[in-house]
Amino acid sequence: MKATIPLLLIFFLSLTFLSNSQTSGKYTLVIHGGAGNITPANLPAAKAAEFEAKLTEVLKHGDSILKAGGTSLDAVESCVRMMENSPLFNAGKGAVFNADGKNELDAAIMDGKTGLAGAVAGVKTIRNPITAARAVMEKSNHVMLSGIGAETFAAEQGLEIVSPEYFFTQLRWDAYMKAKANSDSLDALDKKHGTVGCVAVDQLGNLAAATSTGGMTYKKYGRIGDTPVIGAGTYADNNTCAVSATGHGEFFIRNVVAYDIAAIMKYKGSTLTEAANEVVMIKLKTLGGIGGIIAVDKTGNIAMPFNTSGMFRGYIKSGGEIKVAMFGEK
Ligand code: ASP
Repeated sequence: MKATIPLLLIFFLSLTFLSNSQTSGKYTLVIHGGAGNITPANLPAAKAAEFEAKLTEVLKHGDSILKAGGTSLDAVESCVRMMENSPLFNAGKGAVFNADGKNELDAAIMDGKTGLAGAVAGVKTIRNPITAARAVMEKSNHVMLSGIGAETFAAEQGLEIVSPEYFFTQLRWDAYMKAKANSDSLDALDKKHGTVGCVAVDQLGNLAAATSTGGMTYKKYGRIGDTPVIGAGTYADNNTCAVSATGHGEFFIRNVVAYDIAAIMKYKGSTLTEAANEVVMIKLKTLGGIGGIIAVDKTGNIAMPFNTSGMFRGYIKSGGEIKVAMFGEK
């Protein structure tokens, strides 16, 4: 009898280990490249093709990580890095300019398994703000670092530091000059959102979310949007969903959009689609908060609602199902 007790213990411990590490073989990854006034009329076919190719490349990259058993955290960081490195999007290279003619970048990442999160805000020299956000989460005791402090921390962590000119693109500069000339008549839609984000559930059922942005064209110097604010533009919780937002940040902060979607699921028992639609298509829309979100839950259900004319978006699932879209078709 004495000998059977340790044996039983080992048996139960191994069962727990197996159930914790059991892979479902299933995963889902969703990305966005910003919501805004994106219509066939104002996006030339050649440009649309460029977006389509890049979004597909990013989805396939995320797929390769998750297929090999990688974590959702690694996948979302890596996919957002790819979009930060592409001048097509308003994140990293290609970010919009603020009212001072500078690029000030925000990013955040959240691990739905541990509930840990990291963010950087108002940074001007970190090549990949999303990687700095992850370093804040994993290598500091804090959740958010801003400005020069965040840059110093990133350098100490060995991350790539670039000169502010690295982020320059002519297209964004022209938009800045135009905004400067018409600053009074600018509404949020004119500010061409192009934030990037990624949410994923991996084979172990763990969720993660990541978002990165240059903010809004002609934003006031020092302005911080919803992207790095945990619960506003970025949120992940294994029990509900992972969310990454894009749109008029002030509305997303005031309405705690990403967390609201998770809370509606948790407290009201709504599905992901119901919760996401309630927040984006009813609550935000009524208030005039333009934008959209991408979200995934632990069983791989996806929601991608937006109340603008378009949103660069796409998803890939284990089994190979892949979709990329930009305009209003659902
Ligand atoms: N949400 C971002 C911000 O307000 C902008 C965007 O999504 O394009 O900073």
